[in-house]
Amino acid sequence: MRPRFILDGMLGSLSRWLRIGGYDTEYRKDTLDDDLIEEAVRDNRILLTRDEVLVKRARRQGVKAIYIVHGGDEEALNQLVHELFLIFDPTHARCPKCNHTVEIILKQDVAGKVPDGTFGAVDDYWVCPICRSIYWRGSHWQRIVDTLRGAGRSAS
Ligand SMILES: [Zn+2]
Repeated sequence: MRPRFILDGMLGSLSRWLRIGGYDTEYRKDTLDDDLIEEAVRDNRILLTRDEVLVKRARRQGVKAIYIVHGGDEEALNQLVHELFLIFDPTHARCPKCNHTVEIILKQDVAGKVPDGTFGAVDDYWVCPICRSIYWRGSHWQRIVDTLRGAGRSAS
């Protein structure tokens, strides 16, 4: 089964990348440590944090917790690929804003809803059925995917 995650307040942008990569990821800002640990237990989620004290507390309560070493998203994803053998699977992408799975939307249906320059250059789009956000794969996306594929190869 694919691991599910819960991330604390310091890891907002990492949570978005895990969702884009197809992982069910909750992000909790301004949440008490006890509540984070409780939710991790209840939903069987792996806790990711940059707070070493929280990692120790969570582990004492039986939660799988990982201390994220670096602040950068690419380094953090690299760490997770190596420690958890994550497979970045964009075909199961989730909405970076609300964690719901996204759906393919026809290009003709996004006309006027995305910047003109994007519309001219990009053919594939996704929409979140909950928050209606529209997504496409930009240059940053490609860089992250390349990073993860590189990390996956060196791990095997
Ligand atoms: Zn959404």
